[in-house]
Amino acid sequence: MKNEGIEGTERFQSPGKGNGLRAVRHFALGELVFACPAYSYVLTVNERGAHCEHCFTRKEDLFKCGKCKQAYYCNIDCQRGDWPMHKLECVAMCAYGENWCPSETVRLVARVIMKQVKTPFNIQKHRFPFCTWLVLCWFFFSDLDKMDSEKEEMNQADIAALHHFYSRHIRDLPDSQALTELFAQVNCNGFTIEDEELSHLGSAVFPDVALMNHSCSPNVIVTYKGTVAEVRAVKEINPGEEIFNSYIDLLYPTEDRRERLLDSYFFTCQCTECTTKSKDKAKMEIKKLSSPPETEEIQSMVHYAKNVIEEFRRLLEMCELSMEKMGAIFTDTNVYMLHMMYQAMGVCLYMQDWDGAMSYGEKIVQPYSVHYPAYSLNVASMYLKLGRLYLGLEKKAQGVKALKKALAVMEVAHGKDHHYVAEVKREIEEQK
Ligand SMILES: [Zn+2]
Ligand SMILES: [Zn+2]
Ligand SMILES: [Zn+2]
Repeated sequence: MKNEGIEGTERFQSPGKGNGLRAVRHFALGELVFACPAYSYVLTVNERGAHCEHCFTRKEDLFKCGKCKQAYYCNIDCQRGDWPMHKLECVAMCAYGENWCPSETVRLVARVIMKQVKTPFNIQKHRFPFCTWLVLCWFFFSDLDKMDSEKEEMNQADIAALHHFYSRHIRDLPDSQALTELFAQVNCNGFTIEDEELSHLGSAVFPDVALMNHSCSPNVIVTYKGTVAEVRAVKEINPGEEIFNSYIDLLYPTEDRRERLLDSYFFTCQCTECTTKSKDKAKMEIKKLSSPPETEEIQSMVHYAKNVIEEFRRLLEMCELSMEKMGAIFTDTNVYMLHMMYQAMGVCLYMQDWDGAMSYGEKIVQPYSVHYPAYSLNVASMYLKLGRLYLGLEKKAQGVKALKKALAVMEVAHGKDHHYVAEVKREIEEQK
């Protein structure tokens, strides 16, 4: 790896952490420490049409690939530039139609394999030290059985999907041992590219960004400009100081963060935040009751909360799996598919995953208007939900359009002088 490219920083052996990155000069608050183009990347399926597949530019009038009609580009240069990667999927998407469904990790791994053929580089050398140490233990000391069964199953499913959807276009796929390793590395070293609202845009591998060790009190933040990661100082950094990034959502208390880091990155964080736990009390604020709850009571409530969160995640997964299964026979407009999508939308709303809810709503609303009678409260409420979601996500034109559809039904069903009707009218008026 060419770290000489990153001026002002150097690779070093961080005590107890293996590789790390440190500053060789002073960085002021907000200063760009370095930028790193993606080694390999993939646009998430949900953002197709809104972003250029090649440069991730977000704009209205992208044009689509004439063959598959699924990939969108700024212009012919972006399309040409993307072809070496897009060709892995273009023909397959046409051939499989709606049954084309590799996970994003599989899509990224396929691209990494393809890229390695052309520009070989050993990702093994860029890594979160603890993580790879463990991964190496797994693979080279054949400790694979320690990988818990759920992860193992997912891994096998990923490898199967890679063979299923990509083997025609990648000659000589690595053997299953090497693939297991590659998936683990990409899972560990991969990044999700997010927009300014933290909506998921895609996944990528950024070797230099992966060099930074984790801290729950990081001195840099990673943002994205297209497919380039930019690393900026969010604290003053002095020469000789290690540069720390955060790998996880920092909202949660120390115990949760440690669990998450151990589970995904295989190490226990020893940062100041984790040792002082200075924010834990505020993060875990308990109501002041006349008889304060016992420690066990609090613990069991934490346990309950974590279970509920996990249940919802599984519920959504179950909805998606069942839709995938039913999708072999049913179209998206089939009422049983619509029922599952409606459930999934509800879960998304509960989990405040607005983008997820919106994309389900979009799929539901059209067939709803076909299946239900001309005036239906189910149709009106779906347009209403969708319209409000759009407005919340600052999609004004779409929002107003959906609200007007709801209004047309409501004016008949609720009557023109109903306060709900007045409310929706006001919401539309406010957008002008
Ligand atoms: Zn482009
Ligand atoms: Zn195509
Ligand atoms: Zn920490």
